[in-house]
Amino acid sequence: MNTVSSLFDLRAARLSLNGTVGLVPTMGYLHEGHLSLVSRAKAENKHVIVTIFVNPTQFGANEDLSKYPRDLERDLSLLRPLGVDLVWMPTAEVMYPSGYQTWVEVDALTSPLEGAMRPGHFRGVTTVVAKLFNATQPTKAYFGQKDAQQAAVIRRMVTDLNFPLEMVICPTTREADGLAMSSRNKYLNEAERKAATVLFRSLSAAKALYEGGERNAETLREKMKAVLATEPLAQIQYVSCADYDSLAELEIITGKALLSMAVFMGKTRLIDNFVLG
Ligand code: AMP
Repeated sequence: MNTVSSLFDLRAARLSLNGTVGLVPTMGYLHEGHLSLVSRAKAENKHVIVTIFVNPTQFGANEDLSKYPRDLERDLSLLRPLGVDLVWMPTAEVMYPSGYQTWVEVDALTSPLEGAMRPGHFRGVTTVVAKLFNATQPTKAYFGQKDAQQAAVIRRMVTDLNFPLEMVICPTTREADGLAMSSRNKYLNEAERKAATVLFRSLSAAKALYEGGERNAETLREKMKAVLATEPLAQIQYVSCADYDSLAELEIITGKALLSMAVFMGKTRLIDNFVLG
């Protein structure tokens, strides 16, 4: 497994890879969710590139950039047995050279949900992912359904900017009790960790209503809120039942829909989602 940091070394290493390349972009502090993307990439491509970069431009001023968990040695030891060819760990100076002023922005899709709560977040995401695509030239790029809006926004960017690659969205990997795996779960204390299953429980309750024939979106949102309200440690930021493609809030579900939510568990902000239909 080749590990590189500079753009020069990345380019030399990329040139030495012949055949299909799967790319898995990450911010590190890897868990089984990330590793499921790597395994899928390995199964579907001759080579796999993983990037590890805690991208400063996707964090808001009051967010957790400085305390975002990092453990490079552990990350590399998790990737080695999976047959990853190349790990690129660029520095902020490589990604954002002095005087930086070029941005990639996706319009309407970034307005609701995460975009509404985290102004500027997706501008940082699309910019860094476009740069990762340019540098690594993947055949396929792997993202998690866990970050549903991110996947939708990047898919839009790939179509709009004619990136010659295929997007692969992989299912959310969960703990045994349903909590979606996330690097941020490390912030949870014992009580918060127990309470955090309420996201999965509220999504499951709404999905059960849907499967019983309920198609009123507000009824599903109310159900999710009611289950979240049973957990005193949970503070709802938003709860949504939206059209899967446009991410606009629905009144009546007629096609594919996305149930999603952001919930504070103490100081830790958790997101999760289910796809319906
Ligand atoms: P991150 O390091 O949080 O930026 O995540 C890197 C990639 O892993 C993104 O495409 C995420 O959507 C994906 N990912 C994160 N958590 C999970 C999970 N629990 N299951 C599947 N994919 C995930």
